[in-house]
Amino acid sequence: MAFQTSLAARPSAGATVESVRDGPTAASKWERCVDLGLNGKVAVVAASSKGLGKASALALAREGARVTICARTPADLEAAADEIRHETHAEVLAVPADVTSAEDIQIVIAATVERFGGVDILVNNSGGPALGSFPDLTDDDWRQAFEVVTLNFVRFVREVVPYMHEKRWGRIIGIQSTSVKQPVENIDLSNGIRPGIAGLMKAIMPGLAKDGITINLVLPGTFLTSRILGRLAGGTEEIDKAIEAQIAAAATIPLGRLGRPIELGHLVAFLASERASYITGAVYQIDGGRIKSNV
Ligand code: NAP
Repeated sequence: MAFQTSLAARPSAGATVESVRDGPTAASKWERCVDLGLNGKVAVVAASSKGLGKASALALAREGARVTICARTPADLEAAADEIRHETHAEVLAVPADVTSAEDIQIVIAATVERFGGVDILVNNSGGPALGSFPDLTDDDWRQAFEVVTLNFVRFVREVVPYMHEKRWGRIIGIQSTSVKQPVENIDLSNGIRPGIAGLMKAIMPGLAKDGITINLVLPGTFLTSRILGRLAGGTEEIDKAIEAQIAAAATIPLGRLGRPIELGHLVAFLASERASYITGAVYQIDGGRIKSNV
């Protein structure tokens, strides 16, 4: 279980206030697993053959959810589905799709409903907007980024909400970026467009809450995914520079390293769970402490 906590595994196991006060009984309390209540739930994870999407699907599958994954490259998608099935024995449906296409999004949801009977959890994700600074960006770049980030989110939410309304239960989690809270250098499409998703989430949250549907955003800092590692491809000098840049980036992170995708998966699984039932309209940065603002 992802959230198993064992007092024995803690370095200060013998010295906690509880164990001194209450003796061995308090220690045994810590050995209980936390049941996230995800067993049998149906989750759709967008853009999920690699990286943060795949890690989210894996984390949900580990907790017993049935999972639909989607991406454009069928071979990568099948490989990801096999990997998740192999590790978790969960039911995994793989639907090739482009999340910038309204029709493909409808196909993903229809296939999920046909196979699993509904949708309980949506993890909205994308390949992300292109890198670049404001002076270099064209109208087409902005239109494309709007399709990737905003319309993708809007269309997926629109498609899944009727199934969640039916059950009066649902979880929507958007994977965005720390650019929602603080601009990130050299990715002005993200800086310009992603904060609007937080505004939209807040606006639609009360209507969803009436039917027991929560909606929250997670904001990744820098994670070791193909999006980041892919930039390391190229000539030797380019690779050296990119590695140097990553090391420099890690030096600005209080926890001293980039994130591991499954660490974001754990947060997604928690927000999708029964245990997160009073959390809605919230944004969670997951960045090793890099954002400097108070909230
Ligand atoms: P990644 O490792 O490159 O994985 C992207 C996944 O999305 C792949 O499975 C890819 O498969 C799929 N995908 C891309 N475009 C798609 C499309 N149009 N339709 C369907 N699937 C698509 O990326 P990641 O690092 O996990 O990033 C995920 C999201 O988090 C992005 O929006 C990114 O901007 C954001 N983010 C990431 C970081 C980070 O440090 N990694 C930080 C902040 C924000 P196909 O290419 O086969 O479709």
